Amino acid sequence: MKNNFSDIQNTIEELHCKYLPFKDGHTADYIPELAHANTNHFGIAVVTTEGEVFKVGNCEASFTLQSTSKPFVYGLALEQNGQEKMLSKVGVEPTGDAFNSIIELEKQSHRPYNPMINSGAIAVSSLIQGTSFHDKIATIIKAFESYVGHALVVDENVFLSEKKTAHRNRAIAHLLRHFGIIEEDNIEEILDLYFKQCSILVNTIDLATIAATIAGGGVQPFTKNQVVHSNTARDILSLMFTCGMYDSTGEWAYTVGLPAKSGVSGGLLAALPGKMGIAVYSPLIDERGHSLRAVKVFQELAKKYSLSVFSHEDN
Ligand code: GLU
Repeated sequence: MKNNFSDIQNTIEELHCKYLPFKDGHTADYIPELAHANTNHFGIAVVTTEGEVFKVGNCEASFTLQSTSKPFVYGLALEQNGQEKMLSKVGVEPTGDAFNSIIELEKQSHRPYNPMINSGAIAVSSLIQGTSFHDKIATIIKAFESYVGHALVVDENVFLSEKKTAHRNRAIAHLLRHFGIIEEDNIEEILDLYFKQCSILVNTIDLATIAATIAGGGVQPFTKNQVVHSNTARDILSLMFTCGMYDSTGEWAYTVGLPAKSGVSGGLLAALPGKMGIAVYSPLIDERGHSLRAVKVFQELAKKYSLSVFSHEDN
């Protein structure tokens, strides 16, 4: 039956057992520091909008947000700049291209298609308001702290590793500057802001809590604080649904049917609006940048509980 979660703890324990031996995929070695991730780590966490927590596996192991940060930094920029300004700089259309594609910038208006891909996220970084670089990164960290309900830090090793090897992202940022999407010449500072947001350390429960906050219209499930406006939460969910899984967003919508976002460190979060946030962490990813164990777990959960936002009540 749709959304009867009374046996959710047993279900996630079974899924954890089933997929722990599953070793397909690889760590994100294009960021050298991420290549060292412990491939045995595997956590599944569910946090309801009422603050109930279900978890199994390595839910306390920390990892960097990577692209799971993108919807929420977009939300911050949206609240600072308003929809009109945001839409003039970054679109809201899915692409069939990879997360780090440069091709679409050569097309049409040169505006990144959406804020979930790297070009869009780097453009969003250039729109974060603040009096200095430190002020801007502090604002971003503070936003994530209000989502998770405790203090967070940046993994400086991952930050430096990505900064040193980010030739492609650097090229994207320079193209964005060339086309006037980025308006200032401080390209390295904008990239540093993006790399730092990607390098914020969280664990699987944090990720599920972030998802639960968005699922609850912006209300943090434990502190009950309104972290973002409910309209912002709605816009974030729309973008996650249409663009969150890069070039497999259509397949994800078909097999899982929830707004979601993945990151190359192996985190994947999804929101069941009004009910809960779900997160899975396992650093073994596929060629599109999605955690393979996480995709399997979500597909099974979606089937068992009719999670799709389009499922009928009688399913
Ligand atoms: N920091 C990563 C990059 O820019 C994020 C990619 C991802 O998580 O999908 O390549």
